[in-house]
Amino acid sequence: MRQIKKDKYFRDRGRVFKILQISCAKCGKEVLLYQKDGRGGLKRLYLNRILAPENLALLQDTTESVKQMQLLKCECRNYIGIPMLHREGRLAFRLIYGSFTKHKEKK
Ligand SMILES: [Zn+2]
Repeated sequence: MRQIKKDKYFRDRGRVFKILQISCAKCGKEVLLYQKDGRGGLKRLYLNRILAPENLALLQDTTESVKQMQLLKCECRNYIGIPMLHREGRLAFRLIYGSFTKHKEKK
């Protein structure tokens, strides 16, 4: 699992975070672990906040543009997220409403 990041995005969002377990709404399998900065709803997953599994966390080190990204899918092929470039130049997956469930991870 990647380390929690406390960078400018974290600071800009009130210096609070929670760890969310994102699972597939269709089959129930865990898709990834995510560091959600700040309060408010979860609309997208920034690549540099994916903590695990390593094959998805690795995207933040290897991806330079949206064109290099693929849809975020569960093993059951359910679509979870769509590649996007957010303001501030951050690559992310826009979450597809209803395709996933989230649970707060115990720290
Ligand atoms: Zn699934």
